[in-house]
Amino acid sequence: MVAWIGVDDTDSLQGMCTTFLAAEIVRELTTDYDLVGYPRLVRLNPNVPWKTRGNGAICVRFGHGAGRRTLIGELEGRPIWSHAWARGDDDVWRLRARVSTLVESRSEFQEPTTNPGFCILSGQPAASLYWNAVRRIVSKEEALAAVRSPGVLREYKNGRGIIGALAAAAWRPRDRTYEVLAYRGESRWGTPRVLDPDSVKNMDRSFASTFNNYDYECDRIVIAPHSPCPILFGIRGDDPGVLPAALQTIKGESPAGWIVFETNQGTDDHVIPAPTLEPRTTVQVDTQVLGLPRTIRGGHVVLEMNGLEAVAYEPSKGFRNIVRALRPGDRVRVVGSIRAQPKTLNIEKLQVLSLVEESRKLANPLCLRCQKRAKSMGTRAGFRCARCGQRFPHSAAVRELVSRALEPGWYEPPAGSRRHLSQPLSRRLDRSRRRAAA
Ligand SMILES: [Zn+2]
Repeated sequence: MVAWIGVDDTDSLQGMCTTFLAAEIVRELTTDYDLVGYPRLVRLNPNVPWKTRGNGAICVRFGHGAGRRTLIGELEGRPIWSHAWARGDDDVWRLRARVSTLVESRSEFQEPTTNPGFCILSGQPAASLYWNAVRRIVSKEEALAAVRSPGVLREYKNGRGIIGALAAAAWRPRDRTYEVLAYRGESRWGTPRVLDPDSVKNMDRSFASTFNNYDYECDRIVIAPHSPCPILFGIRGDDPGVLPAALQTIKGESPAGWIVFETNQGTDDHVIPAPTLEPRTTVQVDTQVLGLPRTIRGGHVVLEMNGLEAVAYEPSKGFRNIVRALRPGDRVRVVGSIRAQPKTLNIEKLQVLSLVEESRKLANPLCLRCQKRAKSMGTRAGFRCARCGQRFPHSAAVRELVSRALEPGWYEPPAGSRRHLSQPLSRRLDRSRRRAAA
């Protein structure tokens, strides 16, 4: 039997993070239990208003390990092994006191918005809980109703953390990626991180299965967080086997330890395929561009679509030029989150499905009888020959096609301004190539 431990909402913007607590739980419990599978970092709906940073919960599984074992980390110089599965029976209640102590000592209780919760269950909650929590807003009652097996449920303060804790335990990966997290020694917490940008670029080029490492457009490292938390950096990728080697190539401050997590980052699990306009969800909409894109104060670009305005915000940088190049009549598939007030769609990425022809007028129509150019009678009102009075429709003007600055295909913001859950286009292409080869 496996004990499923889920934890959420222990962190704040000032320090700590739930992934560090995961390492603490692994360090503590691997002294007499075996880790089963990878520790999991599960991102939930990025549109919940009360999230701290990335809305990430964790799930770690313990038992009496069996089957093949894999090296998935190193903490305090000790190798951390993970087992393929577990055998025998165990009492999840025996873990309660130790997990409570860790959560209580490593949570930011003084933060008003931090409301920790954890669960220790002998089986996973219903799968639907994960899908609801990654895509919508889930109530505590709904989360508790998804529990299918006996175990420990523990809430602190308003107890909201139990929702994410249960949702993380409910995750059954349909798609998955991995992230190796490097931790900082406690004496360095809150001090500036020292990482060599060139080594990050080299790693990015040498390990093709990794993603979101370096923002070449803004020329900055993406793997390191900006908060004073105990994380030094994290490298994301599709192949967990190469991540420890990728970590070794990063020059600068040496990590005090590392762990490879299995995650739902970069999977697009948060995207509701149906074009709903429910606030605080992320949707995919196929639509037609209605008006010319316009740039508003702050450098954001607004696109008028059928019944909705979509916005590419300033941090999406060069991606805004793609949006600016769209013309009325173009067909696009837009992925983005629905903001409640004003009701707009915040564009995460877009696919140009088809482009209209764009042309510009070269000359007014020629009156063949008089060998003279006709005169315009006003906007879209057509033309008239000033000499003989013959009329010509608006469409009779001599026009030439202008080549469009865009091609059909997918476009996304630079690595530094993507959401944790957003599937990077590099992954999307790799996956379709793999499917084509299979
Ligand atoms: Zn004429």
